[in-house]
Amino acid sequence: MTEPSSAPVNSCAKPHREHSTVADVVAGGLCTCCGACTVVCSSRAIGMKETPAGLLHPAIDQALCTECGRCARVCPGPGLDLRFDESVDLFHGVVLDAWLASASSTSIREAGQSGGAVGALTTFLLESGNVDACATTVMPDDGAFHAHGIIARDCEDLSRGQKSKYRPSATVAALADCAPTDRVAFVGLPCHIHGVELLCRDSAPPGARVSFRIGLVCDRTLMGIGTDQLAREAGLAKEDVRGITYRDKKRFGWPGELSFRLASGATSYAPSTLRFGLKEYATPPRCRVCFDKMNVLSDIVAGDPWGVAESSDGYSVLLVRTAAGRQLVAEAHKNGYLDLERLEPARVIAGQLIEGHVAEYHAYTRAWTRAKLAPPAVNGLHHVQLQGWQGLRGMRQRILLWTNLYVSRGRSRRNSLWRLRMSRRAVKCIYLPARIASGLRRRILKALSSSPRKKSQ
Ligand SMILES: Cc1cc2nc3c(=O)[nH]c(=O)nc-3n(C[C@H](O)[C@H](O)[C@H](O)COP(=O)(O)OP(=O)(O)OC[C@H]3O[C@@H](n4cnc5c(N)ncnc54)[C@H](O)[C@@H]3O)c2cc1C
Ligand code: SF4
Ligand code: SF4
Ligand code: SF4
Repeated sequence: MTEPSSAPVNSCAKPHREHSTVADVVAGGLCTCCGACTVVCSSRAIGMKETPAGLLHPAIDQALCTECGRCARVCPGPGLDLRFDESVDLFHGVVLDAWLASASSTSIREAGQSGGAVGALTTFLLESGNVDACATTVMPDDGAFHAHGIIARDCEDLSRGQKSKYRPSATVAALADCAPTDRVAFVGLPCHIHGVELLCRDSAPPGARVSFRIGLVCDRTLMGIGTDQLAREAGLAKEDVRGITYRDKKRFGWPGELSFRLASGATSYAPSTLRFGLKEYATPPRCRVCFDKMNVLSDIVAGDPWGVAESSDGYSVLLVRTAAGRQLVAEAHKNGYLDLERLEPARVIAGQLIEGHVAEYHAYTRAWTRAKLAPPAVNGLHHVQLQGWQGLRGMRQRILLWTNLYVSRGRSRRNSLWRLRMSRRAVKCIYLPARIASGLRRRILKALSSSPRKKSQ
């Protein structure tokens, strides 16, 4: 049960790198905020710094940098090469099994974002001694809303990591806290798993041996200022808020609503529509050109059961991608940590609306090149679809990407928040005439189609 994840079909080759240090990656808008570069810098020249808009980027101390180029070699920002068999769809990845899963422990399921399957798998790995530590993402209740990675060594730390944090976290950087002999399970978003893959290829990061990669499905995160704006729209002053849960299941169950922990100890709830309404405008620009919604380089990927199952307790869907992942799921089930029901992989993938994601990815990559930026390359190719997405639809992607870039380049926190609010208003104004026209068109068509029937009655 301790086999590391080394299935060749799921590995990626070292891509062609045009960047000498990660400073070029950041300047080109390609940084995904993963944190991998900080782990390999033996000169300790890199620290992660938050931008005014709440993105996390490496800052290089030029006095310490020896220009060895190692940070750029492990950086997934400019893209990466996958070594998939030709039959494997780049956007789906390899799928061996699909499961509807939930933690057998009621407390882990309740604390989980979906069905607590990730919490159950990591708890099993630690308690069974298959790994010594688990890299997970926590968000302290200090009012600063800073998500970051930790190396969890007990169930209490794992429990702190449960639930999704919709803001950037340089979780890969936590691997620097591992001991040289540690066997580690890593939980992360697709961009984190890309960083881990390149780290392992370059020779494992100091001390870490990542034995299992448990990935999350990811359809974008929010820039850090998105969280400040959510508190504001919920009618709360930032100084009164100590913590946020983006999808709290306590009151109405899965999928959960926004909740804020107040300095007074009370909890204030707000509808999820606030987060959905902000998502388009607070999306980090780099997420727009991210191909990997389905975390294709993980051993197991977990997501919400969209289009598959509904339960207020919540379920997770699991796609198993490697032999190591398959063995882990089987062992966790056998040892009473995970409840499972087999699913058709195609059903899970369809529930994640992958076709729409692929179309958007092509359109945003096209918009990205139009903004005179070099897009990330997958397998050495820039996936720019030159046909389609003309007219109004292509225009929408250009406008939204432009607003995301504008917000992300704010000069201060205040200025970024102002840009966020202004962009949203401006986009709504641009689309108002289009919405009125389409509403009128719908009414006219409805009137035309109903009038002959009325006559015949
Ligand atoms: C930004 C983001 C976008 C997502 N988008 C989708 C989506 O489009 N469709 C979908 O089906 N599912 C999506 N998910 C995954 C989903 O929200 C659940 O995380 C997943 O179903 C697992 O639930 P669980 O109950 O099994 O996990 P839990 O037991 O709650 O464990 C959650 C794990 O996720 C890790 N985690 C939480 N936030 C982060 C973060 N920001 N970065 C790295 N690791 C983190 C924690 O460390 C923890 O180990 C997204 C998650 C995130 C964080
Ligand atoms: S390794 Fe990650 S954090 Fe560092 S520059 Fe590249 S994408 Fe950004
Ligand atoms: S080039 Fe080398 S020394 Fe300079 S920041 Fe990158 S890893 Fe560190
Ligand atoms: S969309 Fe891609 S780049 Fe953005 S957070 Fe998700 S995995 Fe990372």
